[in-house]
Amino acid sequence: MAYYKYANFLSQQQGTEFDVIHPPATATPFSGIYRCTGCGLSVTSVYEHHLPPQNHHQHANYLVPIRWQLTVKSHYRQ
Ligand SMILES: [Zn+2]
Repeated sequence: MAYYKYANFLSQQQGTEFDVIHPPATATPFSGIYRCTGCGLSVTSVYEHHLPPQNHHQHANYLVPIRWQLTVKSHYRQ
């Protein structure tokens, strides 16, 4: 889960980049906050650096894979 205090610091967008599910260790397409689709854990990742790998954290059900979905995108790509 990602948290914020001031909603007026965020703007909603409808871009398809928020719908893409990324495998672990993928090059980060946009700087921002990503959530694990398996458990909701959030991480910050920077453009062109890699999203966390498969062994980043453990799920109670080991069959649930780690996948990353963009939650909050930085204004600039990098
Ligand atoms: Zn997870």
